[in-house]
Amino acid sequence: MTTLSTDRPLAAPLVDAATETFWERAKAGQLCTRACTQCGKLHWYPRPVCPYCQGDTQWRDLSGRGTIYSVSVTRKAGPIPYAIAYVALEEGITLLTNIVDCDLDQLAIGQRVQVVFKPAEDGAMVPMFRPV
Ligand SMILES: [Zn+2]
Repeated sequence: MTTLSTDRPLAAPLVDAATETFWERAKAGQLCTRACTQCGKLHWYPRPVCPYCQGDTQWRDLSGRGTIYSVSVTRKAGPIPYAIAYVALEEGITLLTNIVDCDLDQLAIGQRVQVVFKPAEDGAMVPMFRPV
């Protein structure tokens, strides 16, 4: 079976002082998160205070490369089937995201993926992933 993914309408993300840099970097095609200035650990989602040690954090660019840790294809929640997945990045953090630009029936755990940005209704670019 083949189910080619189709771009879906994306709601505008909530942009505030804590996430403004993330959305600016996404518009430039760069995925980023925050890293702790004390313990050095990255975390997802980006937070101004380290969830491990309560230290300060700063922005850090990410490779955008990873593997599918878990994936589920939703076919009946709406008119357009889509894949939701946990993607484990090379940097060791895991994101809940969508897998796009692919045959949804060929997705598999362990598959290599790369970040791609899809436009939301307000022009913000939303990070998702596609197989490489
Ligand atoms: Zn820390």
